[in-house]
Amino acid sequence: QRRTLIAGNWKMNGGLAANASLLESLQAAPELAASGSTCEVLVCVPVIYLSQCESLLSSSAIAIGAQDVSAHLSGAYTGEISSAMLADFACKYVIVGHSERRAYHHESNELVAQKALQALRSGIFPIVCVGETLEQREAGKTNEVVVTQLRAVMDVLDDGALARIVVAYEPVWAIGTGKTATPEMAQEVHAVLRSVLAERSDFAANRVRILYGGSMKPDNAQELLAMPDIDGGLIGGASLKSADFLSIIKAA
Ligand code: 13P
Repeated sequence: QRRTLIAGNWKMNGGLAANASLLESLQAAPELAASGSTCEVLVCVPVIYLSQCESLLSSSAIAIGAQDVSAHLSGAYTGEISSAMLADFACKYVIVGHSERRAYHHESNELVAQKALQALRSGIFPIVCVGETLEQREAGKTNEVVVTQLRAVMDVLDDGALARIVVAYEPVWAIGTGKTATPEMAQEVHAVLRSVLAERSDFAANRVRILYGGSMKPDNAQELLAMPDIDGGLIGGASLKSADFLSIIKAA
């Protein structure tokens, strides 16, 4: 009963001209029109282009998201963007705790949790990213790492808010490397994450979509998306090429 979510994360890519041409080819494609009943399609764009994407997608089934949000409401936080500002631009989702932000901007589990909370306060659904590094996986710590990351967010949300989040399992070693988790490896972690949600609320566990991210491509999307606890994808590189993104949409 969970609607599949196919989300592109453009990361720090694009520009006015490139965005327009990518969104034009996505919207013109029959795959997009056909996907309407089976899946939700989202592009998470650099925040400076929210306004452009809002106008290009005004009559489109493609939803718009951002890639980060401030943990603060407003005030003296130079360079930060608040959740209320995102909400001004039809931003429906925001990624929080992407491993690139955890690694390069030293975001802690607690900060990520505050960002998720702040997004929900503005009516934006947070896509909470969790994932282990190769070192952690090889040390047998995968479950411990992702569960700790998820629990930090669960700790600040009540049951109603918890049911409104999206979780993305993105093994760090699979991001941008061409290495994917096998469907079985991913399913195993997704099932663990869902069982942790269920400790708090069956409603949330049944409702929260858990996306897989990390080198999802046209040739592996179908088998990943066929797993019972994989409810969609968070797609980096392949979301920048309309043909690839469309074939992932089609696989859903
Ligand atoms: P790639 O699909 O490029 O591996 O990136 C995954 C990702 O980080 C999405 O957030």
